[in-house]
Formats: sequence, C-alpha cells, structure tokens
Amino acid sequence: MIKAVTGTKDILPSEINRWYYLENIVKEVFTNFNYKEIRTPVFEETSLFARGIGEETDIVSKEMYTFLDRSETSITLKPEMTAAVVRSYIEHSLGTLQPLNKLFYISPMFRQERPQAGRFRQFHQFGAEAIGSTSPLLDAEMIEMSYNIFKRLGLKDLVVKINSLGVPQSREDYKNKLREFLSDKKDKLTEESRKRFDKNILRIFDSKIESDQEIMKDAPLLIDYLDEESKTDFEVVKEYLTKVGIPFEVDSALVRGLDYYTKTTFEVISNKVGSQSALCGGGRYDLLIQELGGKPTPGVGFAAGMERILLACENEKSFTLPDPSIDVYLIRIDKGLESTVAGIASLLRSQKLSVDFDYLSRSTKAQMREANKSNAKYVLFIGGEEYSRGELLLKNMADGQQKTVSKDEINKIISEVKK
Ligand code: AMP
Repeated sequence: MIKAVTGTKDILPSEINRWYYLENIVKEVFTNFNYKEIRTPVFEETSLFARGIGEETDIVSKEMYTFLDRSETSITLKPEMTAAVVRSYIEHSLGTLQPLNKLFYISPMFRQERPQAGRFRQFHQFGAEAIGSTSPLLDAEMIEMSYNIFKRLGLKDLVVKINSLGVPQSREDYKNKLREFLSDKKDKLTEESRKRFDKNILRIFDSKIESDQEIMKDAPLLIDYLDEESKTDFEVVKEYLTKVGIPFEVDSALVRGLDYYTKTTFEVISNKVGSQSALCGGGRYDLLIQELGGKPTPGVGFAAGMERILLACENEKSFTLPDPSIDVYLIRIDKGLESTVAGIASLLRSQKLSVDFDYLSRSTKAQMREANKSNAKYVLFIGGEEYSRGELLLKNMADGQQKTVSKDEINKIISEVKK
C-alpha cells in the first residue's frame, strides 16, 4: 500500500471544520488590523532562501526540499514565508504603491526535519509582514495579533517571550563580550556549540544541551548592551503590551542568529503541546530587504504553526464545534422518482440551501438513517400518497412537526427552511 510520505499528513473531512474555524479567526483578526492577504508560489529559486534565511541556519543547511527541475534550475519548496513575501514586495514594487504594506498569509511550508509530535515535513503557517516602517508599535502589533488569535481560539496556557537584538553595531560589540566570556570555557561546550562559537556565536543560546545551558546561564546579556534607539523602541513595545493587557516575559536568550534581524524578537509558547512548544515566532528584520536586493526598507513579521496551535486547542479543549449539519435531506419513497428528487435538490441548492439525497438506491428506512447521520434540519419526503395528490411532506427534525406543500410550490419549502 502506498502511504503518505513520512512527516506529511492528510487533513481529513472529520478534521476540516477545526481548520476552517482557525482560518476564519486568523482572517478576522488580520482584517481587524487592516492586513491584506498575499499568496506566493509554493516553490522559489533556491538562492532566495539561501540569501533570505542564511546559509548557516539549520533550515538552509539541513532542512530544505531542494531539487533541480528539468531545466536544471535549483528549486526549493518554501520553508518559510518572509523571504518569499519580500521577493514579491521587491518584484512588484509594492513600496511605491504605498509606503507601508501590511500583508498576511496562510500557506503550507516544507522542511525536512525529524518528525515528532508537533513537527512535520509539510506543515502550515499563518503569519504577517509589515514592510515600510520602523515604528515599534508595529512590533507590538505583531505580538498583539498573534495573541488575539490565540485568545479567540480560547487558549489560556500561554507565555509571551520578548527580547531585543539591537542593531548590528551594538550586537557586534556584544558578540565580542560574549567571545571574551566564553574564551576560557569554550572547551567545555558541546561540539555543535563550539562550531557556533566560530560561525554564529549567538546561537549557542539555542542549545538544548544542559551542560551548554549551564555555562550560558552566567553569560553577559545582549539586552544590557543595547544601543539607545533599540532600548527606546523596546520600551515602547513593553509599554504598549502592558497597556493592552498582554502579559510578557523578557527572555534575553531569545536570539535569532541572523545578522539582518534587528531589535524586537518574540515567541509565544504553549505549555500544552510538549517539547515543540513554540506556537509562533517573529521579529524585526530591518536589513533583510536590502539583503535581497531591494531599497533599504524596514520590516517586521511573525509566523505561527497551525498544526501546533490546533494541537494546543485540542489539549486545552479550548473550543468545541457543533456537529456538521445540512438543511434538507430528500427521501425518495417510491422507485422511479430518482430524477424528480435530483431536480428538487437542484432547485433547493440553487437557493443556497445545503441539500443531500440517496444515490445508492437504499430503502426508505436506510435513507432516514442517512438523514439522521447527516444531521439534517429538515427531511422532505417525495413519493407515497402525498405525491400522488401532488404534494410533498416536509418534516422539521427539531420539533417533529410536519407540513404538506404542493410540489409546484418549492419556494414555500425554501422560505420555511430559511426561517
Ligand atoms: P519558524 O519559522 O521556525 O520561526 O517557525 C514559526 C512557527 O512555525 C513555529 O513556532 C512552529 O509553530 C511552526 N513550525 C516550525 N517548524 C515546524 C514544523 N516542522 N512542523 C510544524 N510546525 C512548525
């Protein structure tokens, strides 16, 4: 039997309403903040991600689905959206149409990671990017939007972590301090962290190994070395979050190890999803657009993992949805009325009612069972004595009340069902 590829999964009809529910809330919240949806292709030229995410990151060095297409172009299935959105922003000169572009997306992503609970090789993210302003209010807005979405989903057990990475110059100064601090401890770090010492020293903070964490506990903190502008902006973010009642923790180990990330970074963690606990992450990237060949333009954004969010919702039982239902189930009492039933269904469906009937030549009793199973609000009987009198029988399944309607007055059925 051929199965879905490891790390991918089907979203079955029994789960889809939870996805719709999430997607609707996402669209609602982004619309509240006047963000507009952008859709980009599922694949891009590999060089976009190599430049846009950074060669030395795990994503680019280990996790991308990259292949040569038939014309020998190196193609990559998108592992994240920011680079793709920025590519599109530059390509279509969106910045000349309006100075600030507030964009959101919902899209599948692809990373060849080791699959585990909450970690897949095809997964889905929603997220936002605001391109064109340095205002720290936009940084706070990203956090507020993600938090609002989680709250509307009914999630409770959340922690918002924020940090500031400063500007490249202050970060360089800090990296030197960190190098000094680690110079006599380097030998005690794990091999992975020793590599990071040379390549990207901030990422040693990302190490999950206890001995590394023990050493890093006493390391100097980036937040204490911030430049004045980053400090003031960080204060604005904190002040705003406090004002709108979003609790947060400052976590100075929250680093994004890329040079064009600047100032604010944040993550929202759920305590209800096991080890893969980050529901979303984001931050400011004032140097990315020029890195990708655009005019120097500031930007800020975040991305959230939808599988993980739905897992958190399930574990917290944060919302329940009513069983799916339909408006009318048509029951054919006599043989030979198949096309009459289909014709009535067509009329009702054209009036935006959800309608179904039996396609399997089943008995009246079996059709009734099917009507119950599909949670029909009304059942319309077609056939029998009524039909020979030119009538149809409409039954309201909630109160059991029945009504006969002339078969030439389908509009009466429509208005009754829509009542
Ligand atoms: P990132 O783009 O790595 O900052 O990830 C943003 C969010 O996407 C994370 O907080 C997760 O919720 C989600 N995410 C990242 N990688 C995966 C994955 N392999 N499987 C499922 N969700 C993921």
